[in-house]
Amino acid sequence: MAKEIGKPSFDLTGKVAIVTGGTKGIGYAVAATFAMYGCDLAITSRTPADCERIAKDIETLYGVKCLGISADSSNKDDIDRVVAQTVETFGKIDILINNAGISGKTAALLDQTEDDFMNVINTNLKGVFQFAQAVAAQIAKQGKGGRIVNIASVGGLIGGKSVAPYGASKAGVLSLTKTMANEWARYGITVNAVCPGYVITELNQDIFADPEIKAKMEKRTPVRRLGSVEEVAGPVLAMVSDSFSYMTGTYILLDGGQTIGG
Ligand code: NDP
Repeated sequence: MAKEIGKPSFDLTGKVAIVTGGTKGIGYAVAATFAMYGCDLAITSRTPADCERIAKDIETLYGVKCLGISADSSNKDDIDRVVAQTVETFGKIDILINNAGISGKTAALLDQTEDDFMNVINTNLKGVFQFAQAVAAQIAKQGKGGRIVNIASVGGLIGGKSVAPYGASKAGVLSLTKTMANEWARYGITVNAVCPGYVITELNQDIFADPEIKAKMEKRTPVRRLGSVEEVAGPVLAMVSDSFSYMTGTYILLDGGQTIGG
């Protein structure tokens, strides 16, 4: 008889995840996908009405429990409040998706001010560091391991023009991902990242409203189209599942081949 092989499982029933920036775009798609697979959730954003509305919608659509917590990822007190409220409600945290992010000012490096730079770094990099730190401490205390996925970007791998703070923040996230994975393996926490290419969301919809720019980006991408939020959420679901237990400290490129050239 050939050896029986374990069946992959993507079921998240009984798990609890925090998805930052879970009210829109990629974060919402990730939260909704987790909910489809039975995961209870806390979603955050800076807009209280969105948090309340989207959390209620997720509960109605997918029958899981979803907390909507208004919190700014660049603020440490807000982060601690999200972690405390999630633990108070669910008794634990298994998964963190560090997704909240902003694109910042589009301008040449010589025209980026210190404020422009720090504004992006505070949410995209410091927020990822502080959220992961707070959640990892909680998961370590629980003693049963967990998963962290950081939403980085192709922008962190290439030196794109006019988006220096964004690129630097995402390159920083990729570096943090490796150190977190290295240091937190002892707690059973895997830490990985995804690097999406272009996915049309509120973050970039103004740029892609110009059909010429959209066509140019599509031409640069071997699959000749931009990505969808589902094409990020599906891989993230796999990465937090039991089936991805041996992957840590690395990233998955979700860019239609953009970085290998069109
Ligand atoms: P959206 O602008 O559609 O959504 C961003 C979400 O994050 C919203 O819920 C927003 O809510 C929230 N958010 C923004 N800043 C903060 C903050 N300081 N604190 C808490 N919540 C915040 O963006 P996307 O879905 O496109 O982007 C999600 C992630 O994916 C980002 O990290 C982005 O860099 C990354 N990414 C996106 C790509 C794309 O092409 N779209 C490509 C590669 C990476 P609110 O404004 O109400 O706070």
